[in-house]
Amino acid sequence: MPATLLDGKALAASIRAEARNALAAISVRPGLAVVLVGDDPASRVYVRNKVRACEETGIYSELHALPADTGEHDVRERVQALNRDPRIHGILVQLPLPAAFDAARVLAAVSPRKDVDGLHAENLGALVAGRAKLIPCTPAGILRLLDHAAIPIAGRHAVVIGRSTIVGKPAALLLLQRDATVTICHSKTQDLGAQARRADILVVAAGRPKLVGADMVKPGACVIDVGTHRLPDGSLVGDVDFAAAREVAGWITPVPGGVGPMTVAMLILNTIAAAGAPR
Ligand code: NAP
Repeated sequence: MPATLLDGKALAASIRAEARNALAAISVRPGLAVVLVGDDPASRVYVRNKVRACEETGIYSELHALPADTGEHDVRERVQALNRDPRIHGILVQLPLPAAFDAARVLAAVSPRKDVDGLHAENLGALVAGRAKLIPCTPAGILRLLDHAAIPIAGRHAVVIGRSTIVGKPAALLLLQRDATVTICHSKTQDLGAQARRADILVVAAGRPKLVGADMVKPGACVIDVGTHRLPDGSLVGDVDFAAAREVAGWITPVPGGVGPMTVAMLILNTIAAAGAPR
């Protein structure tokens, strides 16, 4: 029997609707500023989706689109001005930044209280300590998807493929906090297939189209595909061979319509949290 789909699009829509109703009932209007440097087409699409979702939810939003030749110092000054702006409760610096930038230095300029991507060292430290208030959106969305489908986590073996600061590491920490036994794999991992086949929960965030085939999935496992790749024909695929893996897995996220919409929904919840409004 094919795997049950974990429908991130539907869950994200219900989270947005709940947030919209909650915001309509209170006087606080949370504000989000998105800082985009350069003209990377994928980043432009992501940013547009984020701003649109905020507006639909009743969140005030500003897009600060800066030309590719803007200096890092000027970007940090823009961020610092947003730190002081009382209309703005959340600041998101869209990644990747131009190659010449020190991304960590730019992210460090965001006030930890307004860091709705959860990537400031102070918030990442709080995540390690298990007391984070602003958690990176994609891993937070993954946990919401698992909980919504009542997928057991405690005592299960979770394998996370990818160790980025934005997805892999925080996803592994969140699963560990929920008492999973966690294995983190990366590009130097030997026999990735053997590791993946041990997973009750397999999170794939490697940025490699169709890296994971059916032979790497334990029968009945929950497969969370974070990857997003646009093919020349305009279609989107993930890091998992969806058609093959869904015949083996117990649950699986589609691409598109799985983790992506949940990332945006979690950004909305983080912005509301940063504004101190009830969620
Ligand atoms: P990233 O920073 O490039 O990290 C990729 C990770 O995967 C690295 O840790 C790398 O290992 C590991 N890796 C690469 N090739 C591998 C292989 N063949 N075997 C095992 N591990 C391998 O990427 P990211 O920012 O985490 O994003 C990953 C993917 O998720 C991308 O496709 C991105 O577009 C997508 N994404 C989607 C969302 C969403 O909302 N849906 C959000 C964020 C990202 P090393 O550390 O050893 O190099």
